[in-house]
Amino acid sequence: MKEIRLAARPTGWPTLEHFDVAECEVPEPGNDQVLVRNLFMSVDPYMRGRMNDTKSYIPPFQVGAPLDGGAIGEVVASPAGGIPVGAVVVHGYGWREYAAVDARQVTVVDPDAAPTLSAYLGVLGMTGLTAYVGLLDIAQFRAGDTVFVSGAAGAVGSIVGQIARLRGAKRVIGSAGSPEKARHLTEELGFDAAFNYRDAPVRDQLRAAAPDGIDVYFDNVGGDHLEAAIGELRKYGRVALCGAIAQYNDTAPPTGPRNLAQAIGKELNLRGFIVSNHNDRMGDFVAEVGGWLRDGRLSARETVVDGLANAPEAFLGLLRGENTGKMLVRLGER
Ligand code: NDP
Repeated sequence: MKEIRLAARPTGWPTLEHFDVAECEVPEPGNDQVLVRNLFMSVDPYMRGRMNDTKSYIPPFQVGAPLDGGAIGEVVASPAGGIPVGAVVVHGYGWREYAAVDARQVTVVDPDAAPTLSAYLGVLGMTGLTAYVGLLDIAQFRAGDTVFVSGAAGAVGSIVGQIARLRGAKRVIGSAGSPEKARHLTEELGFDAAFNYRDAPVRDQLRAAAPDGIDVYFDNVGGDHLEAAIGELRKYGRVALCGAIAQYNDTAPPTGPRNLAQAIGKELNLRGFIVSNHNDRMGDFVAEVGGWLRDGRLSARETVVDGLANAPEAFLGLLRGENTGKMLVRLGER
């Protein structure tokens, strides 16, 4: 079998040289483990931070060792038998074709309850929950709010905008990195307005799209986007600080937002969060978002790359914006 290991730690933008595609034996599951044949794995922006040797909310990847992250697969051996062979499970050992995982660390899912298995890594999984918790709990979204979301054509952002629309937003505005993505937002996902942040300064484009200001900003990007949003937020505006992808490959400290002091006079609430601390919301999230997905009121595009050996390229493509919706790697068929 193959697994992907960290070959070296990058400074600035990672390249294929920072990854090794290694051949190794299929692991033997221990008595408390199951052996999973992975079908899909997730590549996520937070993995860029784990390539650095820095202290964070999640430990760094180790040079010479396999990477890990969200995956879904089929149980092919189960020594203790508690989880049956053939069960479909979500777990944390992606970046490899087979994984021996402690039975306590897998979540058995119903393959028939989702449009595709991959949905459990995206719209019905970690990224969907991030959108739900960030918008509703962290930014305290209320019907009638005008909402701006950056990274809006990505996995989290595309769901944020649609939840806001379905929960009664007055106006939903998104930014993304190409004209095709901006059109996808307005024509397919029901955003009221969208712009390509590469066309002109974010501040100018946001002001044009939201002439009366915004109530909520869902930040996936940081930098110029956060600064623009602070400028356009109305009094008592709320910000969910979800990610800052514009700076993940930076080698110098960020220079903005330069207008943070406006948060005082406007009495803004800016709040960060980590989705894994909000798993108690999984039930509400699956009931509400799963319902919208089933009846076609919410849609979730995926960008799928085939084969484990292409996972590093999929990850680099994610950082460059080559995905629309959730970026995934398909490792096998069920
Ligand atoms: P996405 O699917 O949104 O993929 C990343 C996107 O970022 C790319 O498609 C690209 O789109 C955009 N991007 C890359 N560089 C820049 C840049 N310099 N400026 C603006 N946009 C850029 O990934 P996710 O939905 O998985 O993640 C979105 C954000 O949410 C990330 O910041 C991530 O770290 C964060 N996150 C946080 C979590 C938490 O618990 N707090 C959990 C999950 C995600 P484009 O073409 O538009 O540039």
